[in-house]
Amino acid sequence: MNNNYPNMMPPQAPRQLNYTLKDTREIKCSCGCIFFDMTTIMRVASRLLTGEDSDAVVRIPIAVCRKCGKVVEELLPEEIKALISV
Ligand SMILES: [Zn+2]
Repeated sequence: MNNNYPNMMPPQAPRQLNYTLKDTREIKCSCGCIFFDMTTIMRVASRLLTGEDSDAVVRIPIAVCRKCGKVVEELLPEEIKALISV
């Protein structure tokens, strides 16, 4: 066991999907574009809250439309929607 990477996840067995891509629906931006880039919202949790020695940065991945740059609102967790104006 290599203890240099204590946060590394153990290898996972490949997951079998019980649906095919044909069963899924498309996510489309209001501008009609279906291509998205992943970007990141960053928030800081004060060390007073976390009890750690330094403030903690929280990274939240979000998808933005490649064409118009709008955030894909339906993919945002409700908690995040309340924090940002999209
Ligand atoms: Zn768009």
